[in-house]
Formats: sequence, structure tokens, C-alpha cells
Amino acid sequence: MDVQNVQQVRAVWTGDEWELHIVCRVETGDPEPPGDRVAGIDLGICNFAAIAVGDEALLYPGGALKEDDYYFQKERAKCDDSDSHRAHRLDRKRRGRRDHFLHAVSADMVDECAARNVGTIAVGDLSDIREGTDWSDHGNLDLHGWAFDRFVEMLEYKASERGIRVERVDERDTSKSCASCGTTDDSQRVERGLYVCEACGLVANADVNGAENIRQKVLPNLACDGGDRDNGWMAQPAVRLFDKSTGQVAPQEQVSREP
Ligand SMILES: [Zn+2]
Repeated sequence: MDVQNVQQVRAVWTGDEWELHIVCRVETGDPEPPGDRVAGIDLGICNFAAIAVGDEALLYPGGALKEDDYYFQKERAKCDDSDSHRAHRLDRKRRGRRDHFLHAVSADMVDECAARNVGTIAVGDLSDIREGTDWSDHGNLDLHGWAFDRFVEMLEYKASERGIRVERVDERDTSKSCASCGTTDDSQRVERGLYVCEACGLVANADVNGAENIRQKVLPNLACDGGDRDNGWMAQPAVRLFDKSTGQVAPQEQVSREP
């Protein structure tokens, strides 16, 4: 990416510190033509997100977000006045950190998809889930509507720079049905993040099963995509972690663990 010229520089007081905002024109040129594969992204069942590409899966845990939520809730509770300077500063900081997480994860997803010749990303639209159930009961990430919309927007503009299309699909039943045999009845169960189908014997990571169902919603015909019957990949997603020390996403084995 080439930065052609800086159009504006602003100093912005956030109430906490000064930030320098630089607006510049960026020439992206014609992106490489994307591949023709389809990826499915499922957001927020047990992890922040899972990606399925038909024979491989990636998992993005939301631990960093959860830790932040816990920390900021605790700190905010210490504020005597919820409208105080300190309370507002905490809110701003929390939003900033969440934004950074969403940017890092969406950028990594687009990179990983581009590397796998993905031309279309299908992402489950959560709107009906948001209205319907109180999913915090299920121990899910508290991914509020605004965070979801913001995340999908980030994904869309980062993907479009690479010529990749993002399609929102109805998420109904994608967590309940089996991505391998299509069964949607009571013969499946989800235990500790695993989806188990009694009908065909599939054992999959529950988020990956959801992501694969979302992916299949935009496939013109399953048979066109190779029809791979080996489902082992659905139980073994590669984990990609947000590293707080670098602010970047990296494969789990490269992320240093804090003692
Ligand atoms: Zn099945």
C-alpha cells in the first residue's frame, strides 16, 4: 500500500491524552483478482469467531475481550459518580481497546482468507438472534449489536481492498443443524463447545460447524466445491490469538503466555 499524500493532520484531545489524527490518500491500485473459494464466518457462539473454508478451519477466541469487559466493569463500579470524568475516560478507553481488537481480528481474517484463494466471505447475520434470545445466558460473548455491525463494516472494507466480497446471510438454524449431513432434530447436542451428530457421527467444534453451515448457504452447489467427505478438519481448527503485548493476531503457538 502506498501513501500518496497527507491531506489533513488534527490534534484531538480525548479528555485523557492528545491524539494525532492523520488523514491521507492511499492508492491501493487494482487488487489481485481474488480466488473463487467461499469462506463462512460464525460470530460469537463460544469463541469470538470461527472461519470455515471447506477443508480447514480457524478459530478466534474472545478471551482478550472478556478480560477487558471484566476489568472495565470492575473499575467502573468503583466510580462514585457514573457521569464523572473518570467514568467517561474508562468508557472511552474500553471502546478504544475493543475497536483495536476488532481491527486486528478482521485484518487477520481477510489476510488468512486471501491466502486461501477466498473470493467470497459469508458472515452470519445476528439480527434475529439479537431480538430473540438472551444469549448471555448461554455463556456467550456479550457481542452487542453495535459491535457486530462495526465488525462486519471493518471486514467489508478490508475485504474490498483485496477484491473479496462479503455477503451477510441469515444465521437461522446454522448452529443447530449438522454441516455434514444436514440433520436438524434432537439427535445433535453441543457439549463443551463440541457439536455431536448422532445421525452421521460428526464430532465438530461447535463454532466451526456453524461457520461451515453459513458457508454452505452461499455455495451454489455443494458438489462443485469438491464434496470433501472427510470432516476431521471440523474438529481441529487452527487457533489464532489476539496478543495483548503486540496488539496483533498470531497463531496460538507464537503467542507468549503471561505468567
Ligand atoms: Zn450429521
